[in-house]
Order: sequence, then C-alpha cells, then structure tokens
Amino acid sequence: MIVWSCIVLGCIGGVLSAAIIVCRRFLADYGLCAIDVNSGGRTLDVAGGQTLLEALRSAEVFLPSGCGSRASCGLCKVRLTDGGGAVLATERPLLTQGDIRGGIRLACQVRIRGPIAIELPPDLLAVRLYRARLESAGMLTHDTRRLTFALDEPLEFHPGQYVQASIPTPDGPVFRAYSISGSSADKKRIELIVRLVAGGAGSTYLHRLAVGGQMDFAGPYGQFRLSDDPESELICVAGGCGLAPVKCIVEHLLSARPQARCRLFVGAKDSRDVMLMGFFGGLAGRHPDFSYVYSLSNPRAGPADWAGRTGMIHHAVAHELAPGGGRQAFICGPEPMIAAVTRVLIEKGLSRADIYADRFEAARTWTPAG
Ligand SMILES: Cc1cc2nc3c(=O)[nH]c(=O)nc-3n(C[C@H](O)[C@H](O)[C@H](O)COP(=O)(O)OP(=O)(O)OC[C@H]3O[C@@H](n4cnc5c(N)ncnc54)[C@H](O)[C@@H]3O)c2cc1C
Repeated sequence: MIVWSCIVLGCIGGVLSAAIIVCRRFLADYGLCAIDVNSGGRTLDVAGGQTLLEALRSAEVFLPSGCGSRASCGLCKVRLTDGGGAVLATERPLLTQGDIRGGIRLACQVRIRGPIAIELPPDLLAVRLYRARLESAGMLTHDTRRLTFALDEPLEFHPGQYVQASIPTPDGPVFRAYSISGSSADKKRIELIVRLVAGGAGSTYLHRLAVGGQMDFAGPYGQFRLSDDPESELICVAGGCGLAPVKCIVEHLLSARPQARCRLFVGAKDSRDVMLMGFFGGLAGRHPDFSYVYSLSNPRAGPADWAGRTGMIHHAVAHELAPGGGRQAFICGPEPMIAAVTRVLIEKGLSRADIYADRFEAARTWTPAG
C-alpha cells in the first residue's frame, strides 16, 4: 500500500514538474528584458524566462559557477539592486542574513521576468572565454592528473586564481572551477592539477581528455593577491589538490623575490596521495628562506613506506610555526581543514584579514565586492 502511494505521488510530482517546464518554455513569454549593470555602466538586453546566470553567460558575462545550477556551490552569488523577485527557498542555505539584507542572490536561481539591476566587481566583467588545446598531461598520483593547455590568446592572471572549465555534457556545457597551478609568467599556457572524483562530470572529462583535445575556459577568477610587502612572510597550507594554486603562488613568489620568507604545509591522506615533493624540495634547495612540511593523516603502510610526519596538517602548523604577526596566509582544501588551520593561525598571531581561504568543495563563500 505504502509502495503504491509513493509511486502515485512520484508520478503526480513528475507530471507537475514536466507541466511547469513546458509552461515556462512555451507559454510564459517575457520578451527582451534589460539587465542594468553597475548603475548604468552597461545595459544587457537578454531573453526573459532564463536564469540570471544563463542570461549573463549569453551576454558573455561569465560568473563563476561550479554545481550546474543546483544551488549547492554558492559561486554565482551576485548583488541585485532592483528586480529579481523574492529570495527562494533553494537559495537560503547558501545565504547569510547579511547577504539577504545586502541583496545578494544566487544567479543560478534568479529567473528574469522583467528589468533587473545588478552590481558586478570590475574583475568579473573582465573575465572572458579562452579556447585551449591539451598540450601535455601525466599522472601525479594514482588519482591526480596534471594537464598543460596551450591557449589561443594570452591570459593575464594573478597567482592563486582559477578558471572555469566548460565541460560538454549531453544536456549542454557545465562549468567546474580549477585553480591554475603553472607559472604565472607563461601567459599562453595554463597548467591544472585535477583529482578524479568518482562519477564526477568535470574531473572524469579532464582525466579522459586526450592530448590535442580542445576545451574552453572562462577566467580568471579569485580575489587572492600576494602581499607586495618585501618583509611579509607567506604561509601556505594545502590539503590534497589544494596544492594546485599553492604551487603557482610559491613559484611566483620565489621567482620574483628569491629571498622571500615562505613556509609551506601540505596535508595528504597516505603516501599514495603525496605529490610534488620533489618540486618543492628543489625550490627549498635554491631558496634558503623557503621550507616545507608534508604530513599524512591516514598512513596505511608502516615506516618503510613513509618516514615523514604524520597527523592532521593543522597539528603540524601548530607545532612548527612560531608565533608572530606581519604574515599573510593562503589556505586551500576542504572546509574542515580550512576551519582548523584558520583557528591555529589566529592563535599564532595572524589577523583574520591576512588569512585567505579557497574551498574546493561545495558552498564556497564568495561575496561580491561593493
Ligand atoms: C575555487 C575552486 C577551485 C578548485 N580547484 C580545483 C583544482 O585545482 N583541482 C581539483 O581537482 N578540483 C578543484 N576544485 C573542485 C572542482 O571544481 C570540482 O568540484 C571537482 O573536480 C569535482 O567536479 P566533478 O564535475 O568531477 O564532480 P561533480 O559532478 O560536481 O560531483 C560528482 C559527485 O562527487 C561529489 N563531489 C564533488 N566534489 C567533490 C570533492 N572535491 N570531493 C569528493 N566528492 C566530491 C558530489 O557531491 C557528487 O556526488 C576547485 C573548486 C573550487 C570552488
């Protein structure tokens, strides 16, 4: 009986959803709607009925978005100053009370049914689409691939920034964020480090892409800027693939300022997940004020396999880092690691404003400037 009730309710739900989609697609005609960007700075005429994210993309304004419009990543937050209707239940889990009071919305959920006004940071308006060809690729660990793409045009970016890869799927392209791991000196190439997520659309595509294959990227995104104070020490803490932007940042810092003080902490699960240790070892050999620590959280084999540090990476930071301010920190990895490391860094004397964190998983908190 319960099974039959579930089937009947499921069918009714399915029919209603299909009816809504059909009505939206064929009956609701909102015509052309104007999006006012930055109080008259730009006006975009877009077809009504689509989401703000789709509409901006059709006008070549590329907001970041990482979850295929499922309202789970929070990357597409945008400030609305007029129009857009009420905040939807699907948006609320990713918006703070402050966001809602400030007009912040998820562009993937806001449907355009009339004129609308938004504010966008200038950096975001400069983002554009690049065509790229996979030049070389190789595995760094059992599940992590390094890919180097040649771009059709030079891409200006800051170390720590990321691109959005356009992943072709049968339902159209979906976008996924990947940090640029290669040198920021080479503007015509981008290197990415991608961990394979089981069943994941973006990572699977990038792991299967053959050398010579074409891809589109939008970018650059991300607000981290290296301090230009020559006295400032840089502390980087990376978990897993969080090492991708850190590689770019450390490489850039040491080539611009070979004497810069920089400490790197890398967390990995077990020895199979350790990557780029030789690369950072080479840098440490050439730069006396650069040092690095790797720590394994779940070493599977005995000491014959791994003679280095073990334990959570925030314990390594707590143990190895001397107290003191005047330092900048970049943390990248999963949310629990970021929270634990941030606590330790604050105990060590860093101010919250000097700690920048990039979350590689859902619900990254990105609040537009303004
Ligand atoms: C700013 C930013 C930069 C990023 N940079 C990198 C990078 O340099 N390298 C990199 O490999 N990734 C990076 N990511 C993560 C990347 O954008 C994708 O989320 C990741 O590759 C998974 O996408 P997918 O399409 O393969 O999986 P999806 O199709 O999105 O997800 C498939 C399934 O896996 C789950 N899932 C999604 N992500 C993860 C995860 N990270 N771990 C475990 N389960 C997951 C989902 O819940 C879902 O069930 C970054 C993310 C952000 C926000």
